[in-house]
Amino acid sequence: MEVTDALPPFSPKSTAAGFDADLVLRSSDKVDFHTHKNLLVMASPVFQDMFAFPAPTEGVEARDGLPIVELEESSSTLRRLLLLLYPQAPNFDSLTIFDDIYLVCRAVDKYQIPANALHRDLVKAEPYRVYAIACHFSLRDVAKLAACETLKDAFHPLDPEDELKLGRDGLTSAMDVLGRFQSVCAKSVVKLVSQHGADSDVRMWEEDWETANYPWWITEGHAGGCGCTEYDMELYPAGWFKKHMAGVVDVLNHRPTGSGDDVFRALMDFTQPTLNDISKCQFCSKNAVKSIAAFAERLRQQVDAANEAEANKWDFV
Ligand SMILES: [Zn+2]
Repeated sequence: MEVTDALPPFSPKSTAAGFDADLVLRSSDKVDFHTHKNLLVMASPVFQDMFAFPAPTEGVEARDGLPIVELEESSSTLRRLLLLLYPQAPNFDSLTIFDDIYLVCRAVDKYQIPANALHRDLVKAEPYRVYAIACHFSLRDVAKLAACETLKDAFHPLDPEDELKLGRDGLTSAMDVLGRFQSVCAKSVVKLVSQHGADSDVRMWEEDWETANYPWWITEGHAGGCGCTEYDMELYPAGWFKKHMAGVVDVLNHRPTGSGDDVFRALMDFTQPTLNDISKCQFCSKNAVKSIAAFAERLRQQVDAANEAEANKWDFV
């Protein structure tokens, strides 16, 4: 098989790696990747061991004066593995085929590269598969990352190909754990959102001047019947806001998972009756939608942070 050069940034003349490369990694299908020994050593204890002793000068194949190390990975797997390690690498090639994900995860495992090097894009594209694979290979951090990502995509059927490759039993138990995690997150998302006006009469974030500026928590300036009212030491937000939040909670209650994106979308989805209510008050019609958007963004961040904190409590692998 004829030896060929890898595409940039691992080609001999590309500035990213080839510029001052000191090592050539040759894939099983004879593609040469110009890389940097130090970077590989820092990323992987396996590479560290491999390069721990100075290579003997005889019998080592060299290219342009650089030592060549032959690896058993194919060029497509090796490229993806190296792209994980190079900070200025171009965007990670999207992975949708099971074998691609599987091989990259296996290589990450084999070379003991920190799991979080697996790019978020990879996790984003195929969260369920990456999750299953990460569980299979005991990649704790990747499993966590992927588990959080699945919250944005409520239902995803198992792929027969996945079952075949990972084994039905392991896969089923991994998915059971994920299902329980999703359900806990879904419930806490509903609880968190409910606290902000749906079933609570107490204003949240009281010390927060920003939320205090939301029109539904302001008493003055509304048209009759609208605005924040106080009764028996408790504050009640504008009626339309309470109804809107009840609708949001209802939407979220019907979802098996909950993410910041879901909450944001639900909050920004105004029903016609709500819009009619808002339009009856000049103060609210001027400020409400803009303020809801700011509020939705805050909640989105809160929900995602809460989900991440929840994931840290779980043992997925
Ligand atoms: Zn109003």
